[in-house]
Amino acid sequence: MISLSFYGAAGMVTGSKYLVTVNDQRVLVDCGMFQGRKELRKLNWEPPAFKPESVAGVILTHGHIDHIGYLPRLVRFGYRGPVFATHPTVDIAKLSLLDAAHIQMEDAEYRNKKKLTSHEKALPLFDDEDVAAIDAMYQAAPFDTWTEVTDRIRFRLHPAGHILGAASVELELTDDDRKVSVLFSGDVGRYGNPLTRNPGEPPSTDYLVCESTYGGRIHPPEDAHQDFIDLIREAVERKSVLLIPAFAIGRTQQVTFLIDRLIEHGLVPDIDIHIDSPMAISATDIYCKYASLHSIDLQKLGGKNCVLHGKRVHLHRKRKSSKLLNKMKGPAVILSSSGMLTGGRIMHHLINRLPDPRTTVALVGFMAEGTTGRRLVDGADRIYIHKQPVEVKARVKTLHGLSGHADYYELLHWAENITPAPKRVFVTHGEASQAAAMAGHFRTERGWDCHIPALEETVTL
Ligand SMILES: [Zn+2]
Repeated sequence: MISLSFYGAAGMVTGSKYLVTVNDQRVLVDCGMFQGRKELRKLNWEPPAFKPESVAGVILTHGHIDHIGYLPRLVRFGYRGPVFATHPTVDIAKLSLLDAAHIQMEDAEYRNKKKLTSHEKALPLFDDEDVAAIDAMYQAAPFDTWTEVTDRIRFRLHPAGHILGAASVELELTDDDRKVSVLFSGDVGRYGNPLTRNPGEPPSTDYLVCESTYGGRIHPPEDAHQDFIDLIREAVERKSVLLIPAFAIGRTQQVTFLIDRLIEHGLVPDIDIHIDSPMAISATDIYCKYASLHSIDLQKLGGKNCVLHGKRVHLHRKRKSSKLLNKMKGPAVILSSSGMLTGGRIMHHLINRLPDPRTTVALVGFMAEGTTGRRLVDGADRIYIHKQPVEVKARVKTLHGLSGHADYYELLHWAENITPAPKRVFVTHGEASQAAAMAGHFRTERGWDCHIPALEETVTL
């Protein structure tokens, strides 16, 4: 018997976790952290609904925390098997888990110091020792090559665009008398992104588990460049700061690359770019290390140095240097994390700059429900950081064109070559309205049988 259980990203975007069972053998695809609403975040503290030691392998689609952030918990609850991912994803996973551990530890320390906790003592969800315990478990898997997990389960990774190293996972499952294939889309990237490669062509499959982050939306055509041109020109004229909260991995490199190109092409005046996130700086090193996996040769463009470390890019690793940015007058661009404004150094920039009407905050990524980022997108004139009110006097601008996720039209295009039709499509990784819209598009455009699974639902394949 073969079954598929949805332990995350079902009816929501975060917490991706799909358990596949073939008789008594099990594999987990992604092991993500829940983010956003408090009731969701609480789930990260729960033990898994399955025995971790019964899982033969974990396969990661990519290194974003909503796809890997529960790994340290899984290991703490007893998982000891291999963690398969592409080479860049392994590097990114190590980096982002360590960063997440530090954020958790600092946050717990801060809450305890300020007595902000309603519990006896605030604890981190996981710490750096939990993360270090995973190091020996990683097994790098190349694209387009079959890797065996057990005698009944093998997988192959296909490029998905999105961020460096991101993959779709094709599983081949062998029951006593049949073979069944399941394709997990992972996060599918956009086409024509200046930095990241286009998503590859997915293989045909019996079952498809497809993301739907933007299942009901179409990204407006290439206005991101014009928006950036306007915002940078304005920042230079007004000698002001353009503050850009950005995911440390992927978005920061994309924005840095874009601004650098705009300057090089004479479309905007020269402006200093400050990357204020140790993780983004390390992630940039990983991007430079795997330059051949981008659509653009970073080394060549930047001369001797990688363009992402160009002359106008200033890196702030140390906390002291980050704090000094508070006093900095423009014109300048500050890129800081976390991307959805859920923690990290961006928070002190928000406290400092949101009440200042000369600042512009450009929101360039997806903001999940319940995050501070989402409240800003929705036009809040006051937000709360560590329970303290912060007035929003700065101008807040949402830029859609830089999304790391395919819109529904691009998802339909990506899935175009999956023929014959999958027996069933499971639409996941989207808020309810987006998942419903994506399922609707697959039904009307392709006539595909779609199901939107509920959290913790198990289906037989
Ligand atoms: Zn992602």
